[in-house]
Amino acid sequence: MPTSYFEGYRCGACGREVPSGSAAAECPSCAGPLLAVYDLALMRRLVRDVPSLAAGGGPGIWRYANLLPPYARRVSLGEGRTPLLDSRGLGRSIGVPELFIKDESANPTGSFKARGMAAAVSRLADLGVSRAFVPSAGNAGLALAAYCAAARIPCSVFIPSETPEGVAEECRLYGADVTVVPGLLPDAAKALDALVGSDRAGVVSTFREPCRVEGKKTMAFEIEEEISPDWIVFPTGGGTGVVAFWKAYGELEALGLLRRPMPRLAVVQSEGCAPLVAAWRDGLDRAAPWPRPETVASGIRVPGSRADALILRAIRESGGAAAAVSDADILDGVRELGREHGLFVSPEGAAAYAGLKRLAREGTISPSSRVVVVNTAGGARYRFLLDPYER
Ligand SMILES: [Zn+2]
Repeated sequence: MPTSYFEGYRCGACGREVPSGSAAAECPSCAGPLLAVYDLALMRRLVRDVPSLAAGGGPGIWRYANLLPPYARRVSLGEGRTPLLDSRGLGRSIGVPELFIKDESANPTGSFKARGMAAAVSRLADLGVSRAFVPSAGNAGLALAAYCAAARIPCSVFIPSETPEGVAEECRLYGADVTVVPGLLPDAAKALDALVGSDRAGVVSTFREPCRVEGKKTMAFEIEEEISPDWIVFPTGGGTGVVAFWKAYGELEALGLLRRPMPRLAVVQSEGCAPLVAAWRDGLDRAAPWPRPETVASGIRVPGSRADALILRAIRESGGAAAAVSDADILDGVRELGREHGLFVSPEGAAAYAGLKRLAREGTISPSSRVVVVNTAGGARYRFLLDPYER
């Protein structure tokens, strides 16, 4: 068995410590997000480089089990170890010659959410919960439903009525109960909160359980095993992915394993729903909820994040940036990555790509930068978006 250096959890807002075996979903003092803590000083004496981190004794994300909480049983569907595509041909044409695309569509259920749900459902299995719950605009619900099927845990997914067609059917295919709630993601979240009340055992809402961030950290470890980028460009809704990158790089730094400075983190949102971009531009520490979120990219149609302060800190501390792109830019990005690269990306992945083009045009990302754009999911579920735009 690999060693785990896991020590417990600490609140990302108030710093309160929570013991490792706790079933707490969020901070008992302030309801802030719990983050896993490791004995990095001890581990630092035993690892020499990033590849030696990948000795966790399992496939995919479990190669990094030393930097994940230990689970009695790992619930796995083959998540992680997705390709880092050499996209330098395309990069030259947009003025960013050192471009790579981390293609997360290769995960189970077709999105990066699989990494987080593999870890979160493994924890739920250890805790022995009788049912798992999540509010979701699509990919998180699909991933939770699939991993719960693998773990044989009953599952309830609350989706807003504006969720792309097919999501409810696929969740049910995995055996989940699906509740369709009129409105947007916060409405689905409210319906779920009203149902479970104060008993949040089994709830894996964004930043209301500690393990989804841990599973997603492995994206950074995989990238860093192959190249050391100057920038990582990421589409951002709830923001677990950005916090995961920031936490992963902080851990690599504490372990003395960074070969170059930590990459700058660029957050991309849609112009129709850009609370974090607005807050970052105004130099604020917190983001105000976006009043009427509207974008074709349903995965980032998220008016507010519970971890807004952490996300803004991650952008700031990494020397990063934030950019908003239009729906037209997003759909152009989908078509361009198809035509010029052979990739059918999600609208969210296309938003990140469009965001990179914008940041490069504005001079924020220099032509000599080595850049990783993360395509968070595949495009096939969103084929309907392209029809009105066929040329
Ligand atoms: Zn707290």
